[in-house]
Amino acid sequence: MNAEHEICVVGGGPAGATLAARLASLGHDVVIVERHRFPRPHVGESLSPRAWPLLAALGVVEEVAAASFTRTLEARVRWRTGGPQQVRVADSGDERRSGLTVDRGRFDAILLDGARAAGATVLTPAAARRPVRRGDGWDVPLERGVLRARFLADATGRRRLLGGRRTPTSPRTLALHALWRDGPPADGAQTRIEALADGWLWGAHLPGGAFRAIAFVDPQALASEQRDRERLFCSLLAASSGFAELLVGARCRDRVQACDATSYIADTPIDTDSVKVGEACFAIDPLSSSGVQTAMQTGLAAAAAVHTILAPHGDNAAAIDFYSEHQRHSVKRHAATAAAIYAEHEAHGDREFWRRRAAEASDRSTPAAAALPRAPHRPLTSLADLLPQRVGLSSTATVRDTPCVVGDRIERRRALIHPALDRPVAFLGGSELAPLLDELQASASLALALARWERKLPARRGPQIARWLHARQLIEPVRRAHS
Ligand SMILES: Cc1cc2nc3c(=O)[nH]c(=O)nc-3n(C[C@H](O)[C@H](O)[C@H](O)COP(=O)(O)OP(=O)(O)OC[C@H]3O[C@@H](n4cnc5c(N)ncnc54)[C@H](O)[C@@H]3O)c2cc1C
Repeated sequence: MNAEHEICVVGGGPAGATLAARLASLGHDVVIVERHRFPRPHVGESLSPRAWPLLAALGVVEEVAAASFTRTLEARVRWRTGGPQQVRVADSGDERRSGLTVDRGRFDAILLDGARAAGATVLTPAAARRPVRRGDGWDVPLERGVLRARFLADATGRRRLLGGRRTPTSPRTLALHALWRDGPPADGAQTRIEALADGWLWGAHLPGGAFRAIAFVDPQALASEQRDRERLFCSLLAASSGFAELLVGARCRDRVQACDATSYIADTPIDTDSVKVGEACFAIDPLSSSGVQTAMQTGLAAAAAVHTILAPHGDNAAAIDFYSEHQRHSVKRHAATAAAIYAEHEAHGDREFWRRRAAEASDRSTPAAAALPRAPHRPLTSLADLLPQRVGLSSTATVRDTPCVVGDRIERRRALIHPALDRPVAFLGGSELAPLLDELQASASLALALARWERKLPARRGPQIARWLHARQLIEPVRRAHS
């Protein structure tokens, strides 16, 4: 087959399906090339509640809600070796705000159908070989024929069709996993997490009744068991308090599988002809159970960047900066969170597995912690007391041109930057912040600035923004210079 499309997305997992759905709904001609006929099996079945807004953005909430996936009611966590088990209740009482344990084959198929419904063409089963850059586009060789595309997206997960350098952001981690059928009866604890001396275990009942167990260890652990993954996996389960008993008498469905679970970041996430999304762009520690939602987020962020690059007068540099920053920020945030959790383990001081992962916590948290504003020397002036005073931005805040999403595209806008803010902020509740800050600094008092804001903002928005700025110590009284 020889065909020509504007955008070719290789890989129809959560990242590729999200990117293709969004670009197709923005009017682009998109083809997805997926090597497997869906539904295909995939490990990584636990979805956090934060996936729901992304599913809503793709218009597939009803399909996911109707799919009889398992609502995560509680998680049993034993994070201290041999320590007490904690029951963390995750049930929000609202089905569409709860975490889910899904069958990834069916879940990923819903997303791919969503992309098809949005207008993307789906070629499956079709495996792409290494694409070749040609003039103003790409040749993507398939088993039969070649696809031509102006823009290429690599959404092939850890296979990373486009290759390129990637930098590990965690110690190398091996995942061993298997499925049990006729497994332990579901007793309300869909998810189990248990720390071992040199690794940790995750387990859950999947929709349909099978039980999945995964062990995360250093790859050297395999060498010490003569590279026998069944033997290593069984010894890890046997050393646990919560899994050994649970799986007595259960029949293992398949052989034990092994895969890499190391976190990493790709060096070049985007250029004017290609983008990497999902795990082709970066992989996070599986501890957070948020790989799927993170992959979908890259799909949405990349769609805004690609739409900008393909627009007649799009700001390409802003699009590239925006997506690169999205990648860096996500990697940093996830690494810091995972490392802080590893540092909670009592063996983080001496056992290699825990020490190296917890060390990432102190390495990564230092710059951020150092950047946080020190406690003010004097008590914070209340907002009411600030009203009659001239108020300006805190001396540690700046306003700088920053690429951000405006409508469907990336544009540079002036954004507020401060160590207490996770990211630069250009809009608050849909209102552009920089012009309001200009007015604030030009007004003789905060009360006068609020009166000016009131004329242009919806009711109550002005006081909300003032409270937001005040609570984060982003504004302060302007001290008069003494002559
Ligand atoms: C052991 C383990 C446990 C995990 N647990 C969780 C969890 O509990 N919760 C969670 O949210 N995340 C989890 N994750 C992470 C999660 O699975 C991934 O983040 C997610 O699947 C990434 O989505 P993706 O679309 O980037 O890639 P994938 O889902 O891997 O999709 C890539 C697609 O590309 C296709 N493809 C590859 N090469 C080609 C080619 N040449 N041509 C055509 N098609 C191709 C593949 O067939 C596949 O369908 C886990 C990961 C691991 C390793």
